[in-house]
Amino acid sequence: MVALDRPAERGAAGVTKAVDAEAPLPAASARRPAEAKRVVVKLGTSSLTSDDGMPDRQRLQRITEQVLSLHRKGVQIVIVSSGAIAAGMSALGLERRPADMPTLQATAAVGQRRLMDLWADLLEGEGPPVAQVLLTQHDIVQRSHYVNARNTLERLLELGAIPIVNENDTVAVEEIRYGDNDRIAALVANIVRADLLVLLSDVEGVFTSHPSTPGASLLTTVEEITPDLLRSAARGRSALGSGGMASKLEAVRIASLSGVAVVIAFGDRPGALIDVWQGQDVGTYFPASRPRQAARKLWIAWAPTARGRIVVDEGARRAVSHGNKSLLAAGVRAVEGSFKAGDAVEVVGPEGELVAKGLVAFDSDLLAEIIGTKGGREVIHRDQLVVL
Ligand code: GLU
Repeated sequence: MVALDRPAERGAAGVTKAVDAEAPLPAASARRPAEAKRVVVKLGTSSLTSDDGMPDRQRLQRITEQVLSLHRKGVQIVIVSSGAIAAGMSALGLERRPADMPTLQATAAVGQRRLMDLWADLLEGEGPPVAQVLLTQHDIVQRSHYVNARNTLERLLELGAIPIVNENDTVAVEEIRYGDNDRIAALVANIVRADLLVLLSDVEGVFTSHPSTPGASLLTTVEEITPDLLRSAARGRSALGSGGMASKLEAVRIASLSGVAVVIAFGDRPGALIDVWQGQDVGTYFPASRPRQAARKLWIAWAPTARGRIVVDEGARRAVSHGNKSLLAAGVRAVEGSFKAGDAVEVVGPEGELVAKGLVAFDSDLLAEIIGTKGGREVIHRDQLVVL
């Protein structure tokens, strides 16, 4: 059992209650939140399997002891668990991770039930019932799915259950391809309006350069995910999962836009989860950005690759990033790439800096004809625009 003998530090801005998406939130703080009331904990495949690729009961037990300790203190916890493919591989006698998508999906379907058995075995004996929740990224886009997922998860937490979430691999494959549930975890943190998302990983956190490079040091706090940081993020993937630091940073960005603070920490560090919850300097901490963005805007930030770029002048840049205004044709200086109305595009400032992402109202050809024209024509409506 993990002892909670050290009294947790309680910072003024540390404890934030789950609030409505529209409600104002306290100012962003570089101080780590302590004693969060609602926590999403994500375990990637590499954090819950052993060398032979099978889900590792002992490793999971170390995590569940900490989860149970927090649960007893009244902390509401959602676990986002990968490992379905890993569990399915052993059940089907597959030595290597399959290469084709239908076999990966089938393997996940076989493994998911086994994975849930393991979680139930480890957690339910101690009290809290576990619930299986399978989601896809599209569930944030479709309003009825979003509301139903939110209602179900809310009620599960009220009932004292521990939801165990995975991607619904039978119908969606984004996280199998790339992510190992990092983005699903951010999605869940948004849906339940968590105070804290903990990404437990096989690395200590984000380093100044690849952790194997001499002189690489751990960043304890990252206030902004810069293009440089993204570039230097380790892109290696493990043999069993499909994550990596790049997908984690993407998840952090989504969670942060959702008003959720994130910590990336080494899952095997004894007591890692408790230490993170207490607000100790473990792993890398990313403060939540304020204000929390609406769910639809998150999807825009998340949407498929931008099809082009719209270069805007300084006035438009300011209006979009600080004034919560739509982008008008008058402020557009140049159009790059070929896109259709409704496509995602990036909005960049006069110096080429990324300002926002949005769903454009015009085809690129037409837009090129109306750039700079007065008359208030909306190139991207503010509801379709997310400031980055
Ligand atoms: N949902 C998949 C699983 O649980 C994603 C992780 C992966 O790509 O291995 O196994």
